[in-house]
Formats: sequence, structure tokens, C-alpha cells
Amino acid sequence: MSEFDHDLFVIGAGSAGVRAARTAAALGARVAVAEERYMGGTCVNVGCVPKKLLSYAAHYRHDFEDSAGYGWRLAGEPGFDWPALIANKDREISRLNGIYEKLLNDSGVTLFRDRARLEGGHDVLVGGQRVTARHILIATGGWPFIPDIPGADKAITSNEFFHMERVPESIVIAGGGYIGVELSGILALLGSRVTLVQRRDHLLPGFDQDLSAEIETAVGRYASVRLEDEITEIVESTPGDLRIQLMQGDVLQAEQVLFAAGRRPNTADLGLDQAGVWTTEGGAIIVDEHFQTSAASIHAVGDVIDRKALTPVALAEGEALVRELFGQGGRVPDYPLVPAAVFSQPPMATAGLTEQQARKQHGQIQVYRTRFTHMRHTLSGRDEKVFMKLVVDADTDRVLGIHMLGPDAPEIIQGFAVALQAGATKAQFDATIGIHPTAAEEFVTMRTPDRD
Ligand code: FAD
Repeated sequence: MSEFDHDLFVIGAGSAGVRAARTAAALGARVAVAEERYMGGTCVNVGCVPKKLLSYAAHYRHDFEDSAGYGWRLAGEPGFDWPALIANKDREISRLNGIYEKLLNDSGVTLFRDRARLEGGHDVLVGGQRVTARHILIATGGWPFIPDIPGADKAITSNEFFHMERVPESIVIAGGGYIGVELSGILALLGSRVTLVQRRDHLLPGFDQDLSAEIETAVGRYASVRLEDEITEIVESTPGDLRIQLMQGDVLQAEQVLFAAGRRPNTADLGLDQAGVWTTEGGAIIVDEHFQTSAASIHAVGDVIDRKALTPVALAEGEALVRELFGQGGRVPDYPLVPAAVFSQPPMATAGLTEQQARKQHGQIQVYRTRFTHMRHTLSGRDEKVFMKLVVDADTDRVLGIHMLGPDAPEIIQGFAVALQAGATKAQFDATIGIHPTAAEEFVTMRTPDRD
């Protein structure tokens, strides 16, 4: 008999927690999971999945408009039914919730549908019951940050966005990171008048600066973008009529305000102090290269450690950890090479280093860029450009970064991310034959650097 109830107790059945629990159970560990809210976590319920479904919905506006150049005639104005979309989205998410629960049950994992709290290095309090485990894994994810300003309670976050009763006639979105940019595109194409307020002097901080500039132009086509400004107060005159005070002095009026002002690690009332788990000033749980916290028996992975808050990273971290604990050692993500996408309209995607990072880390680099009209828009007439960029190490010829804004960018960059992971050189890109006619072939036909 073991001295503990379980070999592993996972707090949070999100991307990281479910993957870790299933993998550990498959390796023979006795595993329990606690989930207080929804199976599958943020990604499935209020993140990647509903966001992508709504992004598809939004894109139909452009598809309807673009079809005219291809000879299609619509019998009237296409109508849009938000409640129907949300009901269909909710049905799909319920299906996914069920799949996640079944995956855990079928793996023999004990599931507690309750909040869990640490009571020590090996003890967890869950639903009024004390449970012990040899290892505890914190996979509690993140939570939207709401700035402490007067009237902040009148605003919503991405959590509520997915359950809105209707598309607001007008909305002010605070935050120019990827969530703010994505939700701006969705709402604008579904009929809202959108103002995007960003504190910094550019959108999408952390991305390649050329890409940020391109996205600003793209977003500017359907939303009003206000840089270097922020909301300082929200006053509700009558329900659905908000007055939004901006730092630079302007007052906006809108039906809705949405904060997309970043996310914070979800560690409130988790008992971290009691268990001796340390956090950074920003609240992220501090872990070493083995995802071990300051308490030896407690580990943490996913958004709660705030390395790269993306689902595939959370999955990889969860799997790497439990393989190390119960198997033969796992593969920790190669963080600088993690590809990412922004499902804006059009979307963008990126893998490897930005030009700015590459200059700092590698010194001499070559930059290849191209900007052109997508073949689709030669007949649609849409005023939209594709932008592509390669960043190459001048000494080794290795491709360090690849960036794109344009239709299908996330699908295209996923393939090129393999090439970057394999250490491909620009010469190997050049030796690759293109698929014609595609936009992606430009990545293997750019011959002249335009900056070094
Ligand atoms: P989560 O998925 O957040 O799971 C944590 C779980 O722990 C939750 O279910 C929570 O209820 C539970 N929990 C918390 N505390 C307790 C407790 N004390 N007891 C019991 N249970 C608890 N990533 C991408 O890769 N691609 C995208 O396109 C993308 N789009 C996104 C769009 C939006 C709007 C948002 C908000 C996020 C998006 N993300 C995307 C990020 C992605 O959702 C996260 O990186 C991912 O969900 C992190 O997984 P996790 O397991 O660390 O945490």
C-alpha cells in the first residue's frame, strides 16, 4: 500500500492538466484531477475553439462580398443570426466537454468536479475532502486582467464575449494584444462599430515590428485604432449607453466595453503560501527546467507559469513533466521556435525570431520581404495585401524567423515551422520547388534581401 491516495493530483482540467493526467495514467500512475468550472479549460470553453468558430463566422462577410467579382449574385442582403451561431457553438463545446470527461474516465483517472486548494506539499482539499498525493501538479491556467479603474465592472472580458446575447451596435475594446485584435475583427465583420484602444504605440507587442505595422493597416480597415491611449473611467448613463473616458482626453460612447488587457496566472486562494510555492511579482508560479516549484513535490505547467501562454505549449509541458516523473523523460518545448498565429482578418502567423530579436542575438542578418495582392483579390477587388518576411543568419545561412500576414497564414507557417525546427538554411528554401499558383510559393522564391 502506498502512503498516498494518488501518485499524481492535478489541479485544473484544461489543456495542460488533461494531457498530463492522461499521459500519467497511461504510464501506470494512480491519478486524480480536480476541475471547478469546465472540462477542457480555457481553450475549449472561452479560448481557441470558440474564437476560431466565431472567426469563421465573421469571415463569411468577406466571402459574400468577394464572391461578386467571381460572378456570384446574391438574391438579397445576407442576414446574420448571432443567437443561432452561439447555440451551434455551445453545442459543439458541450460535445468537446463530454469528450474530455470521457478521455479521463476511460484512462482510469479519478475526477473531482470541485475547486481544489493546496494544504501542504502532499495535501489537497477538494470538495471538503482531504486527499493526499506523491506529486501535485498545478495547471490552473490564467484569468483575464481587469484594470482597477472607476466603472470597470461595466465592462466584459473575453470570458463573457462568448456568451453575449447579441452583437453590440458599438464596442470599445481595450488591449492591442492578440485577443484584442482577434475580437475586434470578429465583432467588426459581424456588424459592430469597433474602437480598439491600445496603451502602447503599436499593436501586437512582441511580434515582428513589420508584422505589427501590417496588422495595424489591416485592422484600420474595419476598426478605429487609437494608439498610446487607455481607458481611465467608464460611466453608464443609461443601460447600454456607456461613456468611456480616455487618458488623452477624448470621451467615447459605446454600447459595450471589453477588456482584453492581458491575462494573469490563476492562483487566487490556491493555498500557495501554505504549500511553500513561490510566485513572481506578476503572480506566475516559479518553476525550474523540470517544472518543479519551490516545494519539491509540487510542479506547475501551462499558463500558470506564464512562459508561452498557448495550448500546444501547455500540452507539451504537461506531457514532458509526467514523462519525466513516471516514464523515461519528456521533450520540453523549444520555446524560441514555438510558432504562433493571430486569427485576425486576414490572419497572421509567425515562427522563430523577429527581426529585432535576430539582430540582438545573431548580429549580422539578412531580411527578405515581399508584399503583394493575393490572387484571390485580383477579381474580388478587395484592398488587402499579403506580407511575407524571412529573417536569415548571414553567417550560417540558417533561417531564423518566418512571418506572414495573409489568407491561410497559420496553415502555411505550421509547415514552415518544421523547416525552422530542422534548422533549414536559406539555400534549402531556395532549392525547394514552389507549388504554383499559391501565395506560399513566395517563401521559396524570394532571392534578394532588402535589408541587412
Ligand atoms: P486552462 O486551459 O486555463 O485550464 C485551467 C483549468 O483549471 C480551468 O479549467 C480552470 O477552471 C481550472 N481551475 C483553476 N483553478 C482551479 C482550482 N483551484 N481547482 C480546480 N480547478 C481549477 N492558445 C492557442 O494556442 N491558440 C489560440 O488560438 C488561442 N486563443 C485564445 C483565445 C482566447 C480568447 C484566450 C483567452 C486564450 C487563447 N489561447 C489560445 C490560450 C489558451 O487557451 C491557453 O494557453 C491554454 O488554455 C492554457 O492551458 P492551461 O491548461 O494552462 O490552462
